Amino acid sequence: MKPSKNKCDVLVIGTGMAGMAAALFAAQKGLSTAHAGMTGAINFSSGLLDLLGVYPIGTQAGIWKNPWEGIEALVQDMPQHPFARISKSEIRESIDEFTAFLEKNGLSYTGYPDGNALVITPAGTVKPTFRVPLSMWKGVKAYEEKSPCLIADFRGIKAFSSRQIAETLKHEWPELRNARLSLPNLKADIYPKHLAQTMESPDMLEALIRELKPHIGNVKAVGLPALLGVCKTAQILSRLETELGTDIFEIPTIPPSVAGSRIRAAFEKGLSPLKIQPFYQKQVMGFQRLPDGNFLLDVGHTEKESQIQAKGIILASGRFFGKGLHADRKQIRESIFDLPVSQPQSRSKWHDPDFLAPAGHPVNLAGLETDEYFRPLGKGGKAAYENLFAAGSILAHQDWPRMKCGSGLAIATAYKAVKEMCAYI
Ligand SMILES: Cc1cc2nc3c(=O)[nH]c(=O)nc-3n(C[C@H](O)[C@H](O)[C@H](O)COP(=O)(O)OP(=O)(O)OC[C@H]3O[C@@H](n4cnc5c(N)ncnc54)[C@H](O)[C@@H]3O)c2cc1C
Repeated sequence: MKPSKNKCDVLVIGTGMAGMAAALFAAQKGLSTAHAGMTGAINFSSGLLDLLGVYPIGTQAGIWKNPWEGIEALVQDMPQHPFARISKSEIRESIDEFTAFLEKNGLSYTGYPDGNALVITPAGTVKPTFRVPLSMWKGVKAYEEKSPCLIADFRGIKAFSSRQIAETLKHEWPELRNARLSLPNLKADIYPKHLAQTMESPDMLEALIRELKPHIGNVKAVGLPALLGVCKTAQILSRLETELGTDIFEIPTIPPSVAGSRIRAAFEKGLSPLKIQPFYQKQVMGFQRLPDGNFLLDVGHTEKESQIQAKGIILASGRFFGKGLHADRKQIRESIFDLPVSQPQSRSKWHDPDFLAPAGHPVNLAGLETDEYFRPLGKGGKAAYENLFAAGSILAHQDWPRMKCGSGLAIATAYKAVKEMCAYI
């Protein structure tokens, strides 16, 4: 079959957090936008939107209550960090626009205007984050106030133990209890998303209320794994609160996470009216540069199905997990354009000898160097292409899992890259 031909102002490569955000920002600015990618890490993400939680990494003193102060300290020490190329007001605008879009599409987020909130994790620790799904917010308050609280899990589900959470937190939260509930027909191997869908059925909700009631006593809040529905979470929480007379909140689960896939669902709903040309579950397989500077890209699932002619590109193809970067035996390569990748000089220097090194490994900072406009640098140290911009975890000099800045970095760099591209197109 002959490949279809398509034209756009901008092709966003990647459907992870950075790619979704870039497609949104580009379409909102009126650019004709095409969007290609396989499933990104969003489905694995906890649903929390971190901005900056930890710096320097590997120290207790590095945990920031105020992420803006953390960013100031970070960019002073690491002027190559991507946050050093974005103003605070741009970062704030990007996150406000992103969360407003989610809100409009049925997914509410909240948080402190300028502060990080501490969210209970499935390990029983707490982590600093900037924007919290509304379904988790009452857990932030319960933890702050140390109010009488029950954490419950469901017999049969794996990798979420209310007992572990209560045991880990009880030294600082004496009025924290836990319970294990038996829900009908819960199979041990059920996928989290299926369980969350099952929770939307009236029978399951009745069973949950019945099981919880005897445990309520004097508790002011009940924490449950973030499996309370995929699209109807707000209704489920409201019904539980009315029936049980307590606050109810969700606790993030380990990946794959339903809270992460709620973000994807909100995007799928909200992006389609924006007339974005979708090339989902497809990858960019090759490119040419046309004499006028436009790119011509081959796109398909396993073989070339379409050609897209784009005036500009936002490259948000992620790191190793997303496949934007590829490590062979000698070096790390960028997968589509073969752009130079900033990396340790030899493979033997990729890792610290201590596997669990608190400060992480040098390879964690590998990625694309860019100019001040977020255009990846070519071999000569100048922008490789004047109309190619990069965003998200593919960028060098950031270690998002340790710095707790994953989604904030993805959203803010996508915002800035799109803004710079608008000035170009
Ligand atoms: C387990 C886990 C937990 C997380 N928890 C949090 C959290 O608590 N808080 C937080 O803020 N962030 C969290 N994140 C991080 C966040 O969700 C993002 O994953 C991260 O910011 C990186 O996003 P990204 O869009 O840059 O890359 P990715 O999500 O990796 O997306 C890369 C995209 O590029 C596409 N791609 C690659 N090559 C091609 C190609 N040739 N053609 C087309 N498309 C291509 C991929 O298919 C994919 O869609 C978590 C992530 C993970 C994995």
